[in-house]
Amino acid sequence: MLKEVRNKTFANGVCYALQTEDGYPLEVTDTFLPFYTKDAIGKNQNKLSDYDLGDRTERWMIGVSCMSGCPVRCKFCATGNLKKYRNLTADEIVEQVEFILSKNPDYDPKKSREFKINYTRMGEPFLNIEAVKEAIFKIDQKYPNVHHYISTIGIKGSDFSFIKDNITLQISLHSLDTEKRNWLIPFYHKLSIEELGQIRTKSNLKTTINLTLVDTNDFDIVKLNQYFDPKYFFIKLSPINPNSVSESNHLGNGVIKGKNLV
Ligand code: SF4
Repeated sequence: MLKEVRNKTFANGVCYALQTEDGYPLEVTDTFLPFYTKDAIGKNQNKLSDYDLGDRTERWMIGVSCMSGCPVRCKFCATGNLKKYRNLTADEIVEQVEFILSKNPDYDPKKSREFKINYTRMGEPFLNIEAVKEAIFKIDQKYPNVHHYISTIGIKGSDFSFIKDNITLQISLHSLDTEKRNWLIPFYHKLSIEELGQIRTKSNLKTTINLTLVDTNDFDIVKLNQYFDPKYFFIKLSPINPNSVSESNHLGNGVIKGKNLV
């Protein structure tokens, strides 16, 4: 049973710090956005057009952790503050979803125009992939309209064959400069930029390439064009969420000046 430790409310949702029965910390987010922000491809951006943030009947997103802590230790990620890590079980992942639903008894996810589980909080999903797959299976049984969105750095040897239909992949690329990417994501056993560009899935949606650009040298339109066919990939530019780890690595606020709401 996960225990709530504290929470922080934002304009469009809440972030909860939870703890496993054996004392490991994790976080889960509960956010919402107006439905029009889903059309990022058609509009080339997904910024809010006004102060109306919508509610959970429009786009409802639950960001779950797959691990407590993370061995990857990206230079911009606050998870690096935790010395230990452990994989979460499938039930601990499903329980995060149920925890958020229990906090919102007035909303029915089956009635939301979009109901999405983002595997984007603590942990690299593909280092705990069997538990993630089992959690997806269990969540699918209960919420047939759900969409799963799995974010990975691209672990060597990953099997992407289960990424199909209502499951979509996001790849944390961050820099098109290999040396810089290796510094930002100091995990040896990962796919090269060229190998990432060869990933194909059978998802209803294109694979997202996420670029949290630290500086302008991280962007290279020639390489982007060379490796990532727009038929299969959607490019997303994200701001850095400054935290003590990103600040200790002198990463500043990054190239994108907009802010994530949560
Ligand atoms: S893989 Fe994800 S959770 Fe792990 S350190 Fe990198 S950004 Fe953080």
